[in-house]
Amino acid sequence: MKIAVLREQAAGERRVAATPETVRKFIGLGAELAVEAGAGVTASIADAAYADAGATVADRAAVLAGADIILGVQGPDPASIAGAKTGAWLAAGLNPFGERTRVDAYAAAGIEALAMEFMPRITRAQSMDILSSQSNLSGYKAVLDAAAEYGRAFPMMMTAAGTVSAARVFIMGVGVAGLQAIATARRLGAQVSATDVRSATKEQILSLGAKPIFVENVAGIEGEGSGGYATEMSEEYQKAQAELVSGHIAKQDIVITTALIPGRPAPRLISDAQIASMRPGSVIVDLAVEAGGNVEGAVAGEVVERHGVKIVGHRNVPSRLAADTSALFARNLFNFLSAFWDKDKGAPVLDAEIGDAIRLTQGGKVVNPRLLT
Ligand code: NAD
Repeated sequence: MKIAVLREQAAGERRVAATPETVRKFIGLGAELAVEAGAGVTASIADAAYADAGATVADRAAVLAGADIILGVQGPDPASIAGAKTGAWLAAGLNPFGERTRVDAYAAAGIEALAMEFMPRITRAQSMDILSSQSNLSGYKAVLDAAAEYGRAFPMMMTAAGTVSAARVFIMGVGVAGLQAIATARRLGAQVSATDVRSATKEQILSLGAKPIFVENVAGIEGEGSGGYATEMSEEYQKAQAELVSGHIAKQDIVITTALIPGRPAPRLISDAQIASMRPGSVIVDLAVEAGGNVEGAVAGEVVERHGVKIVGHRNVPSRLAADTSALFARNLFNFLSAFWDKDKGAPVLDAEIGDAIRLTQGGKVVNPRLLT
């Protein structure tokens, strides 16, 4: 069983899909590990560290030759893995809806592509969930990015020269990233409030010491759909939410938006008029910018200024903390493959619940129902 670890080629991608820790663990299962030279450099892992852990370090062609499983953070350009053997697994974040042409090419090449972001949200798969592990650190980094752009302090400070007041931080969307953003902003001493369409988050917001801001008494108020994900809200709800948020946003210094709806463009939560109501020097971080954006005027990959308010739209926020996000991503992959390891075969054998959810291609065809409808 040979496992290949690729060096990421996408622009701005600094993460790597295996660490010396997971290399050792895979070897412990009986696998042979081959890591592409330079794969870990942008995540602060030298080739020598992989070699010390027992991997061979080589160029892409050598790493791919005879590999049974190929690990990546993002899906590789199909041409760049042309040497992979038929039937090899490719486990990575494959962005199946956004990169459909690639998925077709993996099928044509006989690769069995496994999209880690399609991991079902069930208890036993929590430790395999790349969306959670990466979002968690994105939520943390969003607060630091906001603090870096903000020309004022977060905590209240009483100094001999006078008092500095605490920053008011509002988190919109309280999933994994939003919860971590609340906790981080609280640690920095800000006054934090938060909102979501899923009423279950109210308790979570309170338990982190923040103030919930929620639409009440509107039809279709429950926004929780399957798998704990949000659903799109009624027009009446959206109007009530916009009114509530307008009054609140005008008093905020920092707003962090994280709202996503699976398979749909991100919901628009902040309008240009609402941005104009904020005081100059305020900062908005749009973590959903690559999914279409929660904030009017946010630009992916840029920090723009509108009405004196900075709107931060960094791409690939997890990659901005590449050492830690790589460590977690690598563990997600190890937890996934090791959970299915068949000792007699010396290889993983997937069950239907997880295998069918994440498998995009098999036997030369696209097989995932989410891509076939
Ligand atoms: P997500 O990234 O899909 O969305 C982020 C947040 O935005 C969600 O809380 C969503 O409700 C919210 N949102 C959507 N539309 C909104 C709107 N119009 N206004 C305000 N907020 C809006 O969410 P996520 O981080 O993936 O988490 C979703 C849920 O899944 C959470 O309850 C999380 O704890 C749960 N989860 C479970 C597992 C598991 O059991 N394996 C793993 C990860 C997450």
